[in-house]
Amino acid sequence: MAVQVISTISEMQSISEKLRLNGKSIGVVPTMGYLHEGHARLIKAAVLENDIVIVTIFVNPLQFAANEDLSSYPRNFKRDIEVVNDMGGTIVFAPSVEEMYPEGFDTTIKTGNISLKFEGVFRPTHFDGVATVVMKLFMATKPHSAYFGQKDYQQVTVLRQLIRDLRIDVFIRVLDTVRETDGLAKSSRNVYLSTVEREKATILSKALTLAIKAALQGERRRDTLNEIMKNELKSFEDIHIDYASAACAETLEEPPLFAPEGEIVFLVAVRLGKTRLIDNMVYRPGTSPEFLL
Ligand code: AMP
Repeated sequence: MAVQVISTISEMQSISEKLRLNGKSIGVVPTMGYLHEGHARLIKAAVLENDIVIVTIFVNPLQFAANEDLSSYPRNFKRDIEVVNDMGGTIVFAPSVEEMYPEGFDTTIKTGNISLKFEGVFRPTHFDGVATVVMKLFMATKPHSAYFGQKDYQQVTVLRQLIRDLRIDVFIRVLDTVRETDGLAKSSRNVYLSTVEREKATILSKALTLAIKAALQGERRRDTLNEIMKNELKSFEDIHIDYASAACAETLEEPPLFAPEGEIVFLVAVRLGKTRLIDNMVYRPGTSPEFLL
């Protein structure tokens, strides 16, 4: 069946309300469009686990700072609809900016401490914008479950906190990062990369893999783990490191020495030419990451 496209909040709400009354489970996949395999994986999982899957497509101005790439963010609505169709999604909710933030809009969510570090240092207004739009998308689509990618690790941590703090009745599902065969995490922003930059961009997953290997061999000193990532990222002079940090996977705390049995997340963000790239990998003691085999 063809995907239904909805663009107003009131219509979306009344459709979701009826679906709920009919006992249907609703999964939502929030995206900014220009869908790739990472998004497709989320949609596929949602289709398997819900009666109805709503994919939201909205490039959210609130999460971009004035100097960021809002106006150049890649878009291809027609192809996006095809991807949603192919994956078995039911509805695309694609509101306009005016629909989401009409004149006089004056309320935002203020995220807390967990949003101040890492991405928050470089994008101080970003997570408030994300939290606000996700809340609005939840209010519009009334989902039982929402699907997010581990690719945006801190975003998931911030959203889990939001859900806990406001007691939002939505189950969060997080799916692994989908990568290109050479390790680069799929991202809508990868189209910004020149051919040479695209080759250099594999350095992010290489740096993360080295840190995972060190953790597998028992390294628990934060500074040493961070140095391992930074040294690798410094292989190319034109890569500017925003951060390369090991942190507790759950709390994002950064103790000088990690507990032997604790999960560690390695987070990197770099600027390569005009493109900002982020990536992460999680070390889970006792499991051998499949990419290292
Ligand atoms: P975006 O359209 O970039 O805002 O992403 C929408 C959702 O897709 C977010 O939950 C992202 O974390 C997720 N996502 C983006 N890239 C990937 C990827 N390579 N693998 C898995 N999920 C991803």
